[in-house]
Amino acid sequence: MPKHFNIPRAYRSDFIGEIKRRRASADTRKEDLSPTAIDLGPVCFHMARFFGFCYGVENAIEIAYRALEDNPGKRIFLLSEMIHNPHVNSDLLSRGVSFLQTAHGEQLIPFSELRSDDVIIVPAFGTTREIFEKLESLGINPQSYNATCPFVEKVWKRGRQLAQQGYTIVIHGKHTHEETRATFSQIRIDGPSVVVRDKAEAELLARYVRGELPDEQFFVDFAGRSSPGFRVPDDLRRLGVVNQTTMLAEETHEISQLMREAVVARFGVDAIEQHFADTRDTLCYATSENQRSMRALLESPADLAIVVGGYNSSNTSHLVELCEGKVPVFYVKDADEIHSREEIQHLDLHKGVVTTKSWLPQKDKVHILVSAGASCPDAMVEAVLSRVASLFPQSRPLQDGSRLAAAV
Ligand code: SF4
Repeated sequence: MPKHFNIPRAYRSDFIGEIKRRRASADTRKEDLSPTAIDLGPVCFHMARFFGFCYGVENAIEIAYRALEDNPGKRIFLLSEMIHNPHVNSDLLSRGVSFLQTAHGEQLIPFSELRSDDVIIVPAFGTTREIFEKLESLGINPQSYNATCPFVEKVWKRGRQLAQQGYTIVIHGKHTHEETRATFSQIRIDGPSVVVRDKAEAELLARYVRGELPDEQFFVDFAGRSSPGFRVPDDLRRLGVVNQTTMLAEETHEISQLMREAVVARFGVDAIEQHFADTRDTLCYATSENQRSMRALLESPADLAIVVGGYNSSNTSHLVELCEGKVPVFYVKDADEIHSREEIQHLDLHKGVVTTKSWLPQKDKVHILVSAGASCPDAMVEAVLSRVASLFPQSRPLQDGSRLAAAV
């Protein structure tokens, strides 16, 4: 039975919730990744089987709003953005919560201004050991409203276990992202670690593992992304790969393979068990489900795709990447970006925020693929569907129960 979180009604959508409930009860083993078609006549939406809020995000939202409820009159701070959704963050700000740091770790309010009776919310990405310790030294219990996702903590735990067993941890992530900074910090106390952003960086690291590049060059190539005191080549003898949970799961797998092959090239296949750890069990279920659903969705012929989520959301941008080159994709943060039939504002991952004209094809029936990042509320997805449907005067209403019954 999935856990039910107490999150504000404004984030829920009866319509989307009903689709998800029906799909879940018809496919309890989560094996059917086929999309859900919502046919409104001139426009048909093909919804990814899995999209939107994940366990960790709902858990974090529940904790943040509980912190507000439990502590009237107290100063409440979020270490940084709660999740990467601008609407959720701005709602918390409007209720009096303040951010201590930006998403990149720049200090907005000095720790020295905190008092022991302040309330601190640790976001879903978690935070560094240093910050946990800093808060404790100020007399603040960081565990009271610690919204670190259990799946992120699982990565920390496994990384630390392996580090204690003498493995170096290769973290697949963006080294400036809150979660990767936290994971790097949590692991490096127990052993060496190094962050690689993508396959290209993993290939470079593999060359050091195989001993193909001068050792000193490592500290240039991985400056700021390897733990203090890292030793080359000694710390590249036993490796385990974990990830920032929102990275492309397939890319993490490929990076893992690259590291494994490099270790085999250096020590031979017979020694693989002593030199390479199996860490497949640390991959986040939600990231994997949303990405696999997006791949399945792309098998449906369509005119375009819409992906909804905050612009700084790593997992949303990976859903968009999966679409690129296969179908025109529009990455919108909310329904307001859909200006008209003629014009849409959206994030192009290569150019920044752009406005595209004539984005909807002139056809009798337009097919649109739809997905959303793990930090995007269902209500926002419903608003996007309603907005697009409103651009087709002959469209049936979205919340038409009989259509939903036929569609799901
Ligand atoms: S994407 Fe996964 S790890 Fe990240 S918050 Fe959601 S459930 Fe947790």
